[in-house]
Amino acid sequence: MRPYQTKGLSRVYFALIFVVYVAALFVVNDSYQARVQNHLLNHGRQFNQSIIDITNTYESFAGFIFYSEISKSEISEIMYLASMGPSENLDELRDELYNKLLPLYITANAYNFSQIHFHLDNGVSFLRFHNPDVYGDSLVDIRESVDIVMTEHRPVIGFEEGRFLSGYRYVYPIFHDTQYVGSVELSVSATSVIKELYKSMDQVDIGMILDVDSLSSVRVEDLYLYHMTSLLSDKYVIEKENLNIINSTPKSLNLINDSSFNEALIEKINGDLLGKTSFDVYLNYLGKNYLIHFDELRNIAGIHVGYIGIVRLDDRISIFAQERSQLVLIVTGITMLMISIFYLVMKKEEAINKYAMTDSLTGIYNRGTFIDFSRKLLARQRREHSPVSLAMIDIDNFKDANDQFGHRVGDKVLGEIANVILDCIRDSDVIARYGGDELVLLLPDTELDVAECVLERIRFIVESTIFTKIKNITVSIGAHQIAPHETLDDAIMKADIALYRAKELGRNQVVSSQPSH
Ligand code: GH3
Ligand code: MG
Repeated sequence: MRPYQTKGLSRVYFALIFVVYVAALFVVNDSYQARVQNHLLNHGRQFNQSIIDITNTYESFAGFIFYSEISKSEISEIMYLASMGPSENLDELRDELYNKLLPLYITANAYNFSQIHFHLDNGVSFLRFHNPDVYGDSLVDIRESVDIVMTEHRPVIGFEEGRFLSGYRYVYPIFHDTQYVGSVELSVSATSVIKELYKSMDQVDIGMILDVDSLSSVRVEDLYLYHMTSLLSDKYVIEKENLNIINSTPKSLNLINDSSFNEALIEKINGDLLGKTSFDVYLNYLGKNYLIHFDELRNIAGIHVGYIGIVRLDDRISIFAQERSQLVLIVTGITMLMISIFYLVMKKEEAINKYAMTDSLTGIYNRGTFIDFSRKLLARQRREHSPVSLAMIDIDNFKDANDQFGHRVGDKVLGEIANVILDCIRDSDVIARYGGDELVLLLPDTELDVAECVLERIRFIVESTIFTKIKNITVSIGAHQIAPHETLDDAIMKADIALYRAKELGRNQVVSSQPSH
């Protein structure tokens, strides 16, 4: 047995450190993913809030216009007469209404209310301020909002898709005294909302895409007059006016009209559009990170009609990635430091153990360690009923050699003999320096006759080896097979007696305490 082979325990520690290291890397990566996800969601929430803020402001403004300027008896009276009175008077009444409210329309128009549209109590168009010459057409079954106001007599507010204008409509019922006499619709185009969104944002593309199915009532020629198929999906269209805004503002990234960007985005969103709900993704395109949010648009009837989407250039994700790399470096550094410290401590402990357990001159075990090991080994061998042999090996006339060549040469040769013997024995055999020029060897699982062969080989090899300066040296060996109930001390004594016999018989030989069979 060669002292101090790597211990299993230290391998367990190294494996543990490795497992902790890998776990730490997972945690670092997880927290990076969570930060990215959080950042993305916050961005989406903020954009959604901006849309809500703008449309709420328009709603308040529409309410203010209606309740302060339209909901008056002089206006409701005109509508009453138009709805209830003889049809010959309609043109006169229309002119009167137009003249009364034209200043209001001009002011409201300056604040993005592009349409003010009066309808009679039966849903027929009475006066379009944006197109006063077109009237008399029925909006029933075309405008859900007008339908609801007509039947339920309550204000209806929300997004509505349309042929020329998709946008936010604020439709109010008009009563004369308590009688329902028609409705008025104030509209803000989606383009106006997009322009407002652009005001507070930079390095973004903002676009609205509409589900073609939701525009099914619109004639195809009319649809493609004002819209283009979205590069993201042929199921959606984008207003040409929207593209004009993107093209003309210096705040745009101009990516919504970039086909390779859209291809990359299609791959990333992987059918998310079909989910018809708001979603967020981030995209690394040509080395830059973009946050993308699609805010779902539903119309007044609660039906999915499209999305308002935003693409924003973002530098936070690369900062998160940098911080992740720094953390990986720190974790790796700490792990390497731990491994180094652990390695040094292990080496130190090994050195201390080695010092306590071995003989410093020969490097093999000392007598104390031999006795400890052997007692344990003997107990095990006894349980298993396996034979154990023991040998005492003593250098012949070593005193003379010392006298002739000096102690230092003697010391060196002692070490060389130990090495020669180590090379002759099995890993499970235990060799130790017993004292002076005497070595002890324990051979587990070995009957005496086999032990005699091993010992004879040792004797022969020592005899044949050329040692430093002294050159030729021989050893005498006393062999003994330990009996089942014999103590180690008794066995050593028996081997010692055999050794004494070998010396008596002329040295350089192996003698057993009992004859082998
Ligand atoms: P033999 O065993 O054949 O009867 O003769 P010997 O001369 O070897 O006598 P013995 O074993 O009784 O004496 C042991 C000698 O070994 C005494 C000493 O000179 C030498 N010796 C013991 N320990 C050491 C050591 O650590 N270093 C050196 N160089 N010599 C040692
Ligand atoms: Mg001797």
